[in-house]
Amino acid sequence: MRLILLGPPGAGKGTQAQRLVDKYGIPQLSTGDMLRAAVQAGSEVGKRAKAVMDAGELVSDAIVNAIVAERIDQADCAKGFILDGYPRTLVQADAVESMLSDRGISLDTVIELVVDDRALVGRIVKRAEDAKAAGQPVRKDDNPAVFEERLREYYKKTAPLTGYYYAKGRLKTVDGMASIDAVTAEIEAVLEAAAKAR
Ligand code: AMP
Repeated sequence: MRLILLGPPGAGKGTQAQRLVDKYGIPQLSTGDMLRAAVQAGSEVGKRAKAVMDAGELVSDAIVNAIVAERIDQADCAKGFILDGYPRTLVQADAVESMLSDRGISLDTVIELVVDDRALVGRIVKRAEDAKAAGQPVRKDDNPAVFEERLREYYKKTAPLTGYYYAKGRLKTVDGMASIDAVTAEIEAVLEAAAKAR
């Protein structure tokens, strides 16, 4: 099972991806997590990405495409994977197509979590509060000012991907405003239908 979770920051992609990892035993490939790990490790990629991430802008396509291409060749991706937060630009979406066709594999589906913008800032503020309360590090970009830039980047560069996948007949939309369990159930129904259609 290979799928892409699309949706703005705060839509619940990470939460849902984690549930799918548990259910299907395939890894969640979150470029945000990979980049944060690179920043933490102080690697060359991390050094180049840090300021861009802190400002809420997108890291270059070349950097993220390279880290994903390397990641999908690892053994745990053999059965499939969930792309979370990637692709985020049309250039990245084209890169996914060639990465998969070079390996003789294909995507099963693309699921867009549709959410109301007005709910997003509240969710991000809550994520920061929850992390703090749990004694976990609070993401530097989880604050309203940077969030506004992240949302702008989303509409400018990522939202066009819904048209891109719709045109390919791959896009499925799920109401991301429903409860977490209801969203999971809807995603699972989409995945079951995709598995039957295979
Ligand atoms: P996320 O955890 O998905 O919200 O990503 C956090 C930040 O990492 C984003 O605001 C970007 O700066 C960077 N990032 C994550 N994924 C990508 C991507 N696919 N393309 C470009 N930048 C990304």
